[in-house]
Amino acid sequence: MAAMRVHNFGAGPCALPLAVLEEVGDEFPEYGDTGMTVVEMSHRSADYQAIHDETMATARRVSGAPEDFAILLLGGGATLQFAMAPLNLLAPGERAGHVLSGSWAKSAYADAAALGVGYVAWDGANADYTTMPGPGEVTIEDGTRYLHVTSNETIGGIRMVDLPDVEVPLVADMSSEYLARPIHWSRYDLVYGGVQKNLAPAGMALVFVRRSALADTSHLGTYLRYRTHIEGDSLANTPPMFQTWVMGKVLAHLESHGGVAGLEQRSAEKSALVYAAIDSSEGFYRSPVDPAFRSHTNVVWRLPDEDLEKRFVAEATAAGMIGLKGHRRVGGIRASLYAATDISSVEVLVAFMATFAAARG
Ligand code: PMP
Repeated sequence: MAAMRVHNFGAGPCALPLAVLEEVGDEFPEYGDTGMTVVEMSHRSADYQAIHDETMATARRVSGAPEDFAILLLGGGATLQFAMAPLNLLAPGERAGHVLSGSWAKSAYADAAALGVGYVAWDGANADYTTMPGPGEVTIEDGTRYLHVTSNETIGGIRMVDLPDVEVPLVADMSSEYLARPIHWSRYDLVYGGVQKNLAPAGMALVFVRRSALADTSHLGTYLRYRTHIEGDSLANTPPMFQTWVMGKVLAHLESHGGVAGLEQRSAEKSALVYAAIDSSEGFYRSPVDPAFRSHTNVVWRLPDEDLEKRFVAEATAAGMIGLKGHRRVGGIRASLYAATDISSVEVLVAFMATFAAARG
């Protein structure tokens, strides 16, 4: 029986490609002729090693990460990276500048601050986190080892269009637009993201770290050291096997659909449809963010009042569109348009937006 699929605009977890899910379903009861599922096999077996190697190789091809970057698959999601980054990159006395562009950037900064190594290099508070830094606005202080940026704010709905023009290397959280834009490797020492939006089931981070960028980390616990995972090829302990297996398939699917460039273009097209629906609504829908920094993956907007917003979400849900309620911290509406959200779902959404506005506007 064909799967009944909702139009999923969830902020993550979210839709994954149906073709991949069907393949996972087919292969799940017995992987090859092993007599077991992937999640029952030893992570030291040849069968699992082959799955792992394939995922790693596909991640390298699709991302274009040069060999001087190690690729790591780590538990703990993106959140663990908020602490692992400063712990692994900073030598004593060195500090991390942080661009505070919204909720997730603030969470990353909070961990660096808790370690006593972070400072605010730019803060979007005055604009209520609706914009990103302009040229020359980021202040780098003495002793800065790297600048942390959040390339796309999942909650605020803004994306960093150009990387800050600073001399120090960048560390980027790219969770909510992972592999949906090219990564300019020469600018980075570390790129990380949770996989649960564009790439795989939740619970894992895909991390790219420049091998030469690591500080002495012998004082850290085993799991906390990137070196542990580099030396163990992300198999130092029992790894997230299901996520790794599914991600390999999602990455291969992405590769066969134009890779990063293809996804970048589809994200631009899908988000343009929703922004056009907002802009042509004669003020019924209102985008709160700076138009220059509108996210291509998390489109946020408001209606004239909260009651209408509730009704919008309820009626959309009844019509098969889920995940549209804005984040609890900010309210409003949010449509997340990740890799597996088909343009046909976006067309259903914008048609609904027009009908809803015409009835209420
Ligand atoms: N950073 C960003 C930009 C995010 O969107 C999220 C999750 N929505 C996180 C970090 C946290 O990710 P995780 O839940 O995998 O720890």
